[in-house]
Amino acid sequence: MPETLFSKIIKGEIEADIVYQDDQCLAFKDLYPKAPLHVLVVPKKTIAMLADTTEQDKPLLGHLLSVGTKIAKDAGYADAFRVVINNGAGGGQSVFHLHLHILGGRNVKWAAIE
Ligand code: AMP
Repeated sequence: MPETLFSKIIKGEIEADIVYQDDQCLAFKDLYPKAPLHVLVVPKKTIAMLADTTEQDKPLLGHLLSVGTKIAKDAGYADAFRVVINNGAGGGQSVFHLHLHILGGRNVKWAAIE
């Protein structure tokens, strides 16, 4: 797998505003936030995209969702957040290391599909 921006952040080679980390994942603020809260939850395991996950990754996927939910709730957005995973270039993915976008804010509009 080629190195990505996010694997460099995981290794500490590129700085990020880290809000949470444990043995399985890292969460940091998106550099170009699209909402009042915009955090990326990234597994430490190198997986390019959601479509590349296997049965084995089910516990990890659950963990990422759980961490993202806690981040949104702790930020005061228990009733106003969205979880997005862009999959593949056609799905809007630009960094090919799996990540969840945790977007928090009132009246978040639904994304347009063109
Ligand atoms: P995606 O388009 O789903 O692959 O999401 C990639 C996200 O990474 C975008 O929302 C970018 O704003 C964000 N991003 C790009 N560079 C950085 C960086 N150095 N630190 C944090 N987030 C970044």
